[in-house]
Amino acid sequence: MDTPWGYPDFDAHEIVHFVDEPEHGLRAIIAIHSTHLGPAAGGARFWNYEFPAEALTDALRLSRGMSYKNAMAGLPLGGGKSVILATPDRQKSPELLAAFGKAVDRLCGRYITAEDVGMSVRDMVEVSRQTKFVAGLPNDGNDVGGDPGPHTSLGVFLGIKAAVKWALGKDSVDGLHIGLQGAGSVATGVAMHAATEGARLSIADVDSGKAKKLADQCGGTVVSPDEVLFLEADVVSPCALGAILTEESIAKLNTKVVAGGANNQLATPEDGARLEQRGILYAPDYVINAGGIINVCTEYLADGDASLVRQRIKGIPTRLEQIWTESAASGRDPAAVADAMAQRLIGRG
Ligand code: NAD
Repeated sequence: MDTPWGYPDFDAHEIVHFVDEPEHGLRAIIAIHSTHLGPAAGGARFWNYEFPAEALTDALRLSRGMSYKNAMAGLPLGGGKSVILATPDRQKSPELLAAFGKAVDRLCGRYITAEDVGMSVRDMVEVSRQTKFVAGLPNDGNDVGGDPGPHTSLGVFLGIKAAVKWALGKDSVDGLHIGLQGAGSVATGVAMHAATEGARLSIADVDSGKAKKLADQCGGTVVSPDEVLFLEADVVSPCALGAILTEESIAKLNTKVVAGGANNQLATPEDGARLEQRGILYAPDYVINAGGIINVCTEYLADGDASLVRQRIKGIPTRLEQIWTESAASGRDPAAVADAMAQRLIGRG
């Protein structure tokens, strides 16, 4: 593979901005993959990397992922991501957050930040004292903004319904068995929507208390985290971890549909083809889980209200159907089709 600059994850990123300000306790990388469709939007991650090179890899990969996700969600936004390097002696402080806000501001709106792993709404409020190029702020009673989880759940549920229609010819999940991996924010919304429509849910979480609470709420059954992916089920919905679809796990799946909210479900690109070979319909993760970013972006763009958020989320099943149609016509697996479609949308077809 051609690896310009010696970095396999470099993909003609427009800007990779290194910030090194020991006086403020800040070391960060802001990566802007593409601004073809609009300013590059994507969260800021605060993470303790073993090696700084891992932070660069994360920034390059995650920013490209945001270009694809925003493009496929039909948002007028490009893709970017920032990583702030934590260490035992480099913790989050008001000085660090202020310095990060100024670094974002120096990019003059080419990059819009928001919270990601390790960053809270409160941190974003600190950042917003230095720059207006920030989203994911408290929604102060407005109907747009705030917790993205329920919006992600709605998009995932609509995606599951589209997959069930496509693969099983059913208009509803009524009476269908869904194996749900995770009982956190996204899984909870998915379970409640599905239970309301009459689905039978088997739920697993490494935190068995969370699994039980959710099962009680939606009338589901708790199953072991080791078995949930391999249940005989109409749909398996991964809503916890990434990289759970591997050569080994795909061989043991006992379902017709994999459709869930977790990021980066395929361990390798070849795993998309493995699902296809087994006749299992896959809903590419960054397409089906875009409800949260749709909400955050509608907040930032201030171009509409909750009804626009819902309208944009309803575009998720339509986009999935386009992917599956192209996949059926071309014989390429849906994940590969989604990547190619996203590349075309950002002008890199
Ligand atoms: P969360 O932290 O609220 O829930 C995740 C749950 O998964 C936790 O309850 C955790 O105990 C459980 N878990 C961890 N390992 C597990 C395992 N091996 N088996 C079963 N359960 C396990 O997180 P969330 O916000 O619900 O996000 C879930 C996934 O969806 C993540 O991959 C996240 O990146 C992705 N996602 C979330 C959003 C959002 O809006 N929250 C948006 C897009 C993508």
